[in-house]
Amino acid sequence: MSEAVWEPVIGLEIHVQLNTATKMFCACENHFGAEPNTLTCPLCLGHPGVLPVINQGAVEKAIEIGLALNCAIAERSVFHRKNYFYPDSPKAYQISQYDEPICLEGHLDVDGSRIGITRAHLEEDAAKLVHSGGEAGRIGGAEYTLVDFNRCGTPLVEIVTEPDLRSPEQAIAFLALLKNTLQTIGVSDVDMEKGSLRCDANVSVRPAGSGEFGTKTELKNMNSFKFLGDGMAAEIRRQIDLLERGLQVVQETLHYDPGTKALRSLRSKEEAHDYRYFPEPDLVPLAPSPALIERLRDGLPELPAARIERFASQHGLPAAYATDLNAEPRLADYFEAVAASSDAKSAADWVLNTRPAPVDNVPAATLAALIDLIAGGTITNSIAKQVYEMLVADPAADPAELVERHGLASIGDSGELEAMVDEVIAENPAFVEQFQSGKDGVINALVGQVMKRTQGRADARQVQELLRSKL
Ligand SMILES: [Zn+2]
Repeated sequence: MSEAVWEPVIGLEIHVQLNTATKMFCACENHFGAEPNTLTCPLCLGHPGVLPVINQGAVEKAIEIGLALNCAIAERSVFHRKNYFYPDSPKAYQISQYDEPICLEGHLDVDGSRIGITRAHLEEDAAKLVHSGGEAGRIGGAEYTLVDFNRCGTPLVEIVTEPDLRSPEQAIAFLALLKNTLQTIGVSDVDMEKGSLRCDANVSVRPAGSGEFGTKTELKNMNSFKFLGDGMAAEIRRQIDLLERGLQVVQETLHYDPGTKALRSLRSKEEAHDYRYFPEPDLVPLAPSPALIERLRDGLPELPAARIERFASQHGLPAAYATDLNAEPRLADYFEAVAASSDAKSAADWVLNTRPAPVDNVPAATLAALIDLIAGGTITNSIAKQVYEMLVADPAADPAELVERHGLASIGDSGELEAMVDEVIAENPAFVEQFQSGKDGVINALVGQVMKRTQGRADARQVQELLRSKL
């Protein structure tokens, strides 16, 4: 059997660190990069006798995430204790949500496919373990492990998808749109390298067309889209190989090492009952009022999925362009500013082909003015690229003024171009003779010589026409 007869089935679990000012249940500051163990208090260190207080800002951000993912917001949701012992959890339990999460049953449409969102719930993050000495950074080779409690108790939303994804590429496209959506609504800095966006993937394969699911494995916590995609592809190949040899996939948690491209088993997977979930006795259930939910809904900006559709319909862009421009909110904003005063298709070409430089650099109105110079026939495309480089170096410059100062305007059908064509004909009798004896391809050599002489200030097609008319 080949890969074509197997169908991958992928579901994602995404952890999003919320960018609230303070932690989930205490008043400690919530930010990345502080000295280890400086953002702590008795509460997030799990001292006896402390009582958690819900961060209302985190609740509102969780609701905004739910609304952006087309979820229902639960009238009542409950915090649970998820019990486990590990050095990253001083209380020996994590406050999370279990069977009554705050957001339920949503979806996100990616390239025409609807991907179901099972749930999104609020919880607190664990402390960060820093494996040090020896082979630092890896638990296996390190000599000792330090605990940084700054991250302990920071607010997280865990988003769980339905197993609706059918390829690593589709999973990455989904994740990109989700990341963009979270960035657009401003609830997180979604930086995978800092760990504020983390993704686990549940992967299984089944015979194509089968209605049943195969045994799944969980790929843990990859810190880039690329590694996640590579890891899923490797795991799909491994499972297909096992099944084709008549062996079974074992349910387990795996780590993909991007360096060696190997999959390593971390542990057999826990079941929910292993955690002895029970309702957190120190917190009342969440019951957001309809008025609050409506206020948050009204406050949401235009979301990327809607914006992609609008770019296609309003600006007449191909779907792939609309998606690429929406890879990041600021790229989309920049495109709209350029397209406001120039041709949208050209604006999209320039923004996509020169990213990320202009967004940080060349003002949108300046790029629009450059595009207008091309559209009006003042400069050729190749000259425009030169002018663009000048603008990157000097963003305050005016494109028309640069063209003027450096003598870059197209020579068009002026006498200057005709004179150059005559010169090239006169200087290349051998080429002329070959062309006239039927070797049509020789015309390109002559065009090339004229173009060189114009230093890009002429249109190659026009030069060719002029040459043909003279030969
Ligand atoms: Zn604290």
